[in-house]
Amino acid sequence: MIKKVDHIGIAVQSLETALPFYTEVLKLPLLGIEDVESQKVRVAFLNAGETKLELLEPTTEESTIAQFIKKRGEGIHHIALGVNSIEERILEMKENGIRMIDEVPRAGAGGAHIAFMHPKSAAGVLVELCEKKG
Ligand code: ZN
Repeated sequence: MIKKVDHIGIAVQSLETALPFYTEVLKLPLLGIEDVESQKVRVAFLNAGETKLELLEPTTEESTIAQFIKKRGEGIHHIALGVNSIEERILEMKENGIRMIDEVPRAGAGGAHIAFMHPKSAAGVLVELCEKKG
């Protein structure tokens, strides 16, 4: 049911400041930068082999990423697991007593459908289910 770790989400204050470490020091290819209006973030995807890194810069103070950085500083924010049939996966999670932040999938970067589990149900980790369409 889980295909792979699709990406790791990393909260950053500024893409401009954070990106050179990834692109120039680690030499990871930048796949693109995208505004994700629904989450009030600007997102940069880097290719790190099978798994991508997703740098998340808040675009407003109300962004959950802005709140995360204020509380805990920059750093790893979530782990995204690639799945098929995300609606069914959400139902399975709920049947297993897992608390979902998103009970209905919402639009993520790159046209993906995503849903977050509550960290209290996932051993303290913010887990994203992520289905790529097409
Ligand atoms: Zn993500």
